[in-house]
Amino acid sequence: MIAVLSEFNMSPVRLLLSCLLFKEALGLPGSFWHITDLHWDPSYKVSDNPALVCASSGNRPALGAGPFGDYLCDSPWRLINSSVYAMKKILPNPDFIVWTGDDTPHVPNEDLGEDAVVNMVSNLTQIITEVFPFTKVYSALGNHDYHPKNQLPGAPNYIYDQIAEMWHNWLDPQSKETFKKGGYYTEKLLNRPGFRMLVLNTNLYYDQNDATKDMVDPADQFSWLDRILTEAATNKEKVYIIGHVPPGFFEKKRNKPWFRQHFNKQFLDLIEKHHAVIIGQFFGHHHTDSFRMFYNKEGEPISAMFLSPGITPWETTLPGVVDGANNPGIRVFEYDTETLLVKDVVTYYLNLTHANAVQERWEKEYRLTESFRVPDASPASMHQILNRMASDQCYLQKYYEFNSVSYDLKDCDSDCRVDHVCAARELDFERYEQCLVKEGAASIYGGLLLVLPVAVSLVFGCWW
Ligand SMILES: [Zn+2]
Ligand SMILES: [Zn+2]
Repeated sequence: MIAVLSEFNMSPVRLLLSCLLFKEALGLPGSFWHITDLHWDPSYKVSDNPALVCASSGNRPALGAGPFGDYLCDSPWRLINSSVYAMKKILPNPDFIVWTGDDTPHVPNEDLGEDAVVNMVSNLTQIITEVFPFTKVYSALGNHDYHPKNQLPGAPNYIYDQIAEMWHNWLDPQSKETFKKGGYYTEKLLNRPGFRMLVLNTNLYYDQNDATKDMVDPADQFSWLDRILTEAATNKEKVYIIGHVPPGFFEKKRNKPWFRQHFNKQFLDLIEKHHAVIIGQFFGHHHTDSFRMFYNKEGEPISAMFLSPGITPWETTLPGVVDGANNPGIRVFEYDTETLLVKDVVTYYLNLTHANAVQERWEKEYRLTESFRVPDASPASMHQILNRMASDQCYLQKYYEFNSVSYDLKDCDSDCRVDHVCAARELDFERYEQCLVKEGAASIYGGLLLVLPVAVSLVFGCWW
């Protein structure tokens, strides 16, 4: 009887742990939310004057402004609120939440300051905590979560300090220490032995970051990562890695890497060295829905990195990107609670035009295994999706529409195919270059590659 009563008095963490063990016993998948790039713009207001809607549109007139936002603006509070409550409605009790940063609007540095940035992070932290009071959140910094933007230092500073205190419920004392030193940390995943989460500050490797450009190993993060992953292997742990800025190249602009080259190489070397313990990688920053493959020397897939879509719909101003907006997206990952293998990915979205014109409606955009006809989201399955994207126009087009969260429904032409396939396949600078040449030639001379699937799709249509 005492034992039964004590079960009723369990703490939320113990309750969650029992739920997990229960799921494990029944062979049910675990699930967690991944949200990223909320980019709250407090200046947003619906106005008859398109120049006055939001600061984040810059000089671009925001002609589609409605209560939930505009494709040229960062998120109004109403959109942030809507996203977090949609999460609560769709999956109220996730095992945990992954939040990969970028909380402030795309505005000039002069319009923000250290305290303005800290306050915005605080407001978003507060709404997530209010709506999910008992859920563990693993939270990474984005390049916009600092003032001046992108300049995250490899040393202690006011902002890391303030945020470490703000997130004290999510950080154990050791995590707080490394966070204050360099904005990164590791925790046991859900306090379970054998499972670990690594939260990186890859903004230190961003090529726009002048504060770290002459450093070999900013904030000693690489040597720390190497040590933690070595220990994880010794202790037979399984690891997830999360962060904001990903290595490799942007799929919407040719030859656009994010990391400095030497940092990119160090990151890839570490993943190759420790891939056996790294079961999943989850990043943001692109605002698009994509993924990246890691291969060993033999060309076998060893890891997949999921790039989740942003909540902000903001059309990028990056020169050369055409129509680079997206619908707001949020995402559930389903995983095997024993192996951490990602079993499936379900993306939910808000059609912003419809939300503004008719009503707010968050709906399922797609389930990975259904839409791409793969058994799970393992590196082998993601490799299969990539190969089919490269050779089957139906697959490519499907992926392309999801890439902007069903915003840009244009045809993905041969240049577009090369950009997306090479960005997903090759994260190394030289190998990416070689891929462009090889896939470019395939598009021109080996159009044959695409002829059969295209002909089949013209006759029978794509399968959706
Ligand atoms: Zn962003
Ligand atoms: Zn970013």
